[in-house]
Amino acid sequence: MPRDFLQGVQSEYDVVVIGSGLAGLTCANTLGRAGYSVLLVEQHYKLGGMATWFKRPGGHIFDISLHGFPVGMIKSCRRYWTREIADSIIQLKNIRFDNPMFSLTTTFDREDFTRLLTERFQLEPSTVHEFFDHVRSMNFYDDQATTTRQLFDRFFPGREDVIRLLMEPITYANGSTLEDPALSYGIVFSNFMSKGVFTFEGGTDRLIGLMQKDLVKNGVDPRIRCNAENIMVHRGQVTGVQVNGRMIRTRAVVSNANLKSTILNLVGQEHLDRGFVNETSAVRLNNSSTQVYMALKEDERIDESTGDLLFSSTAPLFRTDALLSRDVTSRTYSFYYPRTRPTGRPRCLVVSSTNANYSDWAGLSSEDYEASKKDLVETTLVAIEKYLPNLRDRLDHVEAATPLTFKHYTRHVHGSSFGTKFEGLAVSRSLPEQVRGLFHAGSVGIIMSGWLGAINYGVIVANGVDAMLSKVETQSSDVANLVTEV
Ligand SMILES: Cc1cc2nc3c(=O)[nH]c(=O)nc-3n(C[C@H](O)[C@H](O)[C@H](O)COP(=O)(O)OP(=O)(O)OC[C@H]3O[C@@H](n4cnc5c(N)ncnc54)[C@H](O)[C@@H]3O)c2cc1C
Repeated sequence: MPRDFLQGVQSEYDVVVIGSGLAGLTCANTLGRAGYSVLLVEQHYKLGGMATWFKRPGGHIFDISLHGFPVGMIKSCRRYWTREIADSIIQLKNIRFDNPMFSLTTTFDREDFTRLLTERFQLEPSTVHEFFDHVRSMNFYDDQATTTRQLFDRFFPGREDVIRLLMEPITYANGSTLEDPALSYGIVFSNFMSKGVFTFEGGTDRLIGLMQKDLVKNGVDPRIRCNAENIMVHRGQVTGVQVNGRMIRTRAVVSNANLKSTILNLVGQEHLDRGFVNETSAVRLNNSSTQVYMALKEDERIDESTGDLLFSSTAPLFRTDALLSRDVTSRTYSFYYPRTRPTGRPRCLVVSSTNANYSDWAGLSSEDYEASKKDLVETTLVAIEKYLPNLRDRLDHVEAATPLTFKHYTRHVHGSSFGTKFEGLAVSRSLPEQVRGLFHAGSVGIIMSGWLGAINYGVIVANGVDAMLSKVETQSSDVANLVTEV
């Protein structure tokens, strides 16, 4: 008999959360802590969504999305998770750039960027201060028509090198481009600039393990290998969720699944206004990624001067289409030293990440797909030898992931790494107006993605669910406060 992953579940909960990405986990935890009965269903065999890891023989543990997040994670984890989680967040001090325009190392905060921009890039100190103050003051409800390109043209006209320094890491961090609203750039960039780039000591496996412990302590019932097939709606009100063929009754559903698949597949268009369905269909997805995972042999080490994060590119200029192209010119390397997992087996690993288009990978025959993956590994090994000579001979393991891999494990439409573009946020926020009791929390709109954005959005939505269940009006300022505070 196949195992019943729903064994022992109740027939009814106050809230069912679909998906255990950081937004789903945080939403479930906040509601569990507030005293609601919460069932969390995850289709994959582990919790975490994109915040995940995998192990390979030889004691190697690869992190998928543990590359860097802003200092705001400390406050959010202390408030909505535990002190132990918050206290494990540490700074990455060695951020490197290497491209045809410049090579430099920075702590990636306002002070050091001001030094670089004025001394090395020879900008007027007053312009630099004005730029930092301007982006820092950007408000969630500000003008959304100005693009990031226009913002840069206003402060640094003709300075492609400056634009590259300011933009390249943010494109990597949340998939945003020069054509996206300046607001989505400004908030995320300022969050990083406040104190630099941070990571979680102990790795993603430790983080998710600690989160799972706290969830259970707060009475949440987390279930893996449980696929939500349908969200049941009756007369404009959520009534339940069909999970692994079984109906679970509930008054509130929070979907952490991809916004478009939640609305267009899980709910069913017959329960929604036609205009809302059209608006949802028009929401653009963010791009996907490829990654190459490299583990060094047990006794091999990487010198720490190599850096923690290295934004490397051979493209003469910073261009969005070049960043997404199959002909890879830009790679971001994350270097993991034994200190990443101080209590684990001492290992050095490198993960090379590249933004990518799903369509470049989806239509391939299985032979072409395998050949393209091999090529991705091969070209990455050639490229990284500039920084780690003879790495190929020092490796114990190497493999690659593509947009199809991300889609397979998280069910994100087109394997989108950061959910949807900015317009997804309005659709996500207005879902409860379409179906009472139905909420969405997950990567949308650039600001609400990444580890910090997802966690904060989970809290915002939990407040909305709480307000509905306890019939108290939620404050619209909640959103603005959470996304802009660091
Ligand atoms: C390669 C890569 C690198 C990244 N690097 C960084 C980084 O350095 N810093 C950073 O801050 N962020 C990074 N991110 C982004 C970050 O990981 C994500 O934005 C964040 O983890 C997304 O959280 P989420 O809550 O939106 O949900 P997701 O992680 O997208 O999880 C959604 C969950 O829902 C589940 N699900 C879907 N459908 C169903 C269903 N029908 N039934 C049950 N479960 C379902 C999925 O299995 C999944 O577990 C990176 C992402 C990628 C892909």
